[in-house]
Amino acid sequence: MKVRCWGARGSIPVSGPEYVRYGGDTTCLSIRSKNDALLVIDAGTGIRRLGCQLMEQGREDLTLLFTHTHWDHVLGLPFFKPLYNPKVRIDLYGSPGLQGNIVKLLTRVMAPPLFPMPFAQLPSSITGLEWQGGSLQLDSLRVTRIALSHPNLGVGYRIEEDGKSFVFLTDNELSQHHRGGRSFSEYVDFCRGADLLVHDAEYTPEEYPSRRGWGHSHFEDAARLAKVAGVKTLGLFHHNQERTDDAMDELVRRTREFLSGPGAGSGPVPACLALTQDSSFDL
Ligand SMILES: [Zn+2]
Ligand SMILES: [Zn+2]
Repeated sequence: MKVRCWGARGSIPVSGPEYVRYGGDTTCLSIRSKNDALLVIDAGTGIRRLGCQLMEQGREDLTLLFTHTHWDHVLGLPFFKPLYNPKVRIDLYGSPGLQGNIVKLLTRVMAPPLFPMPFAQLPSSITGLEWQGGSLQLDSLRVTRIALSHPNLGVGYRIEEDGKSFVFLTDNELSQHHRGGRSFSEYVDFCRGADLLVHDAEYTPEEYPSRRGWGHSHFEDAARLAKVAGVKTLGLFHHNQERTDDAMDELVRRTREFLSGPGAGSGPVPACLALTQDSSFDL
C-alpha cells in the first residue's frame, strides 16, 4: 500500500516562511491499495491538493473515512473538487466511535449560511454507509478501528495489506482518559508490530501540563507507545500551529534521543520522523 500525507498540521492551517518544510495544511491522508483502490482519511485543508490531483488523474471513485469532525479535520471538505463532479462516486463510512451519523455531521458543516452549497445538493454521488462488524475490507486493504481518547470522541485506524500494516492515531491523548477512550495497553495491542505508526505528538513534555485534557499527546508518550508496541517507524503528527520548521526539527531530534534511552521502554528502537504535508510511504 502507498500512504501519502496531504496535511500534518493540527488545529488550524498556517502559512509563512517558517512553515515551508513541514507545511501548514491540516489533516488528510490517502492510502492506495496495490490495485489502486483509494481510501482517504479526514478532510482537513490538505484534501484540497489531493482533490486537484484526483481531478487531473480522472479518478471517479474513492472511500472516505473520518477520525472525528473537529474543524481541522473537516475544514477542507467544501474545497474538495471531486464533490462537484457528477461522475464521481464516494463511499462515506461513519463509525460507532464518531459522535453521530457522519452524513448528518457533514450536513451541518456544509450548510448555509456557513457555506453556500448544502451537502445534500452536491453533484457527486455520495453514499453514506455504516461499518458492519469488526473490520472493513476495501479491495486488498483490511481496516480495523479503535476509539480515541479525545474530547467529543474519535476513531483511530489500522490498515493492513499483504502482512504490512499502517496505524493512524491522531488527536489521541495517551496520558488522560477521555470518555470512550482506551487504556495505554489497549493502544499498544492495536499498534503491535506496525510497519508505520503515525501518532499525535503535538506537545513537548514541558508544554503538556498546561494543556492536559485538550486531547493531544506529548512526544514522549507517542515514543513510548511506538517502542513498547514494537513499531518499525514512528511518524509524529498533528503539529502545533506555533511549531516552526526549526522547532519541528528539534522535536524530532528530542524524540529520537528519547526513543534510544531507557525512558521509552525496552526493545528495538523505532525509526522516527515528523510527517510533512508531502510525506509518502511505500509499505
Ligand atoms: Zn485535530
Ligand atoms: Zn480533535
